[in-house]
Amino acid sequence: MDPIINAVLKPKSIAIIGASTKPNKIGFKVVENLKNCGYTGPVYPINPDAEEILGYKCYPNIKDVPYVVDMAVVTVPAQVVPTITREAGEKGVKGLSIITSGFSEVGDHALEEEVVKIAREYGMRIIGPNIIGVLSNSDKMNASFTNFLPLEGKAALVSQSGALLIAMDAATYTRRVGFDKMISIGNQADLDFADLIAYLNEDENTTCITLYIEGIKDGPRFMQEARKCTKPIIALKAGSSAHGAAAAASHTGSLAGSAKVYEAAFEQAGVAQALDLNDMFDTTLALSLQPTMKGDNLLIVTNGGGVGVLATDAAEKYGLPLKFAPEDVQAELRKHMPSFGSAKNPVDITGQAGLEGYYEGVKYAYAHPWVDGVVVLYCETSVTNPQEIAEAIYNALQESGASGKPVAVSLIGGDRCETAMKWLIERDIPTYNAPDLAVKAMASLRKQNEMLKTAHNGLYKPDDVDSEKARQIIAGARAKGRNALTEVEAKHVFKAYGLPVAPTDLAHNEDEAVKLAEQIGYPVVMKIVSPDILHKSDAGAVKVNIKNEQGVRDAWKLILENSLAYKADAEIDGVAIQEMAPWATEVIVGSVNDATFGPTLMFGLGGIFVEVMKDVTFKVAPIDEATALDMQSEIKSSKILQGVRGELPRDQKALAKVLAHYSYMIYDLQDEIAESDANPVIVYEDGQGVSVVDARIILTKK
Ligand code: ADP
Ligand code: MG
Repeated sequence: MDPIINAVLKPKSIAIIGASTKPNKIGFKVVENLKNCGYTGPVYPINPDAEEILGYKCYPNIKDVPYVVDMAVVTVPAQVVPTITREAGEKGVKGLSIITSGFSEVGDHALEEEVVKIAREYGMRIIGPNIIGVLSNSDKMNASFTNFLPLEGKAALVSQSGALLIAMDAATYTRRVGFDKMISIGNQADLDFADLIAYLNEDENTTCITLYIEGIKDGPRFMQEARKCTKPIIALKAGSSAHGAAAAASHTGSLAGSAKVYEAAFEQAGVAQALDLNDMFDTTLALSLQPTMKGDNLLIVTNGGGVGVLATDAAEKYGLPLKFAPEDVQAELRKHMPSFGSAKNPVDITGQAGLEGYYEGVKYAYAHPWVDGVVVLYCETSVTNPQEIAEAIYNALQESGASGKPVAVSLIGGDRCETAMKWLIERDIPTYNAPDLAVKAMASLRKQNEMLKTAHNGLYKPDDVDSEKARQIIAGARAKGRNALTEVEAKHVFKAYGLPVAPTDLAHNEDEAVKLAEQIGYPVVMKIVSPDILHKSDAGAVKVNIKNEQGVRDAWKLILENSLAYKADAEIDGVAIQEMAPWATEVIVGSVNDATFGPTLMFGLGGIFVEVMKDVTFKVAPIDEATALDMQSEIKSSKILQGVRGELPRDQKALAKVLAHYSYMIYDLQDEIAESDANPVIVYEDGQGVSVVDARIILTKK
């Protein structure tokens, strides 16, 4: 654990620079909150005009404090912050929590950079600016201007929005989701999400990290830290709509990347994405209190058939479909229910079920080795008391002799259920007021288990690549003042990264075209090669299925004529002669350099699927072949690759290899390739491979 960051987030002593005697000032609030919430370390208000504030002795300047100061909360106006930062540095303060606003969020990047630069000179770390502060239950520290510490718990919240943090702090009590820490990170001038993930991963009081994100500054570093993190991370990303992204960008001064790329990055780094605030709380409750679910066998115990069905639907919806319990489990459970109950799954112990039914049913189910996780549902009835049922469930789990498996409960009913829910949550059992929420919580514990497994994989790197050769081709194009490669050049780059490109040669005149066509073998395809014509079909400059010499000669003339008609001054390298790939399924593989996460791979079916359906999926590069296979099943039209209506499945393995190699190419050449695509890549039947027939690379601006 970084000792400096630890001193800032878990300070043994705190100064408040800008402490005030006026109760309506933030500089007073922070002192008051530290006192009221029970912070036990020394507090040093800095104020040249006051003797003391709330019983704490004031000092005129931070440098006058005769003791060690770990962290200083800064509430002075923005213009004074550089001076304050230098004074704090000279004093030997370890870090600052800068509450003050008026920096990059309003466009003043220079002021913010100046403050960071000064802090660096002294080895200080900064949280903020533009924050509400830092709160920690385990340290009884409320170094913020929100009035109280959150409901005690095991999660940690890191929020880019201060206002939302204040609201969530209050909401922890009504939603009963406990947090040990709440950290406002505002502009992330210095400490950012990645630093906080690394820190909280080692914090003994945190079991789960919840993030409210508007924009990430360094995507690759975020992913790297998230991948290393062994605790669940939940992220709520604001700004998924174009308008929302613009609002977030102007709000925090950081660039919000495309929602789809964020989604991919989270998934790849093992971060659970929350859909909204409710989902964020619900998921945090489960992930902060329960172990992950190691297998797929979910067992549901219920006293109501209806909620059992709702839960079953939810299980399927959230990717954890129910299976029938094995015979021995059913036989044992049947002993604890009326004859009209059901021991399959959901296990319906019926509305007549009392304490004994719940106790015995849950105890047996939870302990059985077949069961990987249990969801217990209870509908309030006139013959049972929810509190007693809650106690029966709790005792059953305690006395089952098993552990390490997750459980979630749903109590459906009125006030009595609310009270019983609270009681269970206080005993670390995530409890919800609707059956689908309990199932969804369990599904997130299952998914977490799988994500944590793959997220730790190292970065993929194929061994059969020739980067040097690719770079030479690119340098050659750049030397000619070009910012795009021709298809022939791009194909050579692809080839250097092990991609199976259709054999292609450049003909400089008609006779050479005939000669090359004969070498390659008919039928052939002919296309214009010009740095000025990137969309060749648009110019009528692609001719397929050319069967003989006369065809080549005719095509030559037509292609040149059409190209010059399309762009009279087009620079023309010649005409590409290439092997005609037999028709099969066309897919598109492409890339963009995402502003946040860098080189990002795109995949979809070709033709109208790309243009009309926008049925594409993204992954941050590089990806391995297993992830590439997942990618193929992520698109809506994935069935076409799996083989529909009697067609054989396509060669998904060969395609996975292409995707993985392609992703490594754009990762390795990220300083050179701004955008690229292979459109189309033709995918043959299983075992028959794939063929890249078109290639396009747009270079980065240098
Ligand atoms: P552009 O995308 O610049 O218009 P392409 O090279 O993709 O040009 O060619 C247009 C279409 O011609 C492709 O989408 C594909 O259907 C077909 N095509 C191109 N090259 C080949 C080839 N070598 N074998 C078979 N079909 C091809
Ligand atoms: Mg094309």
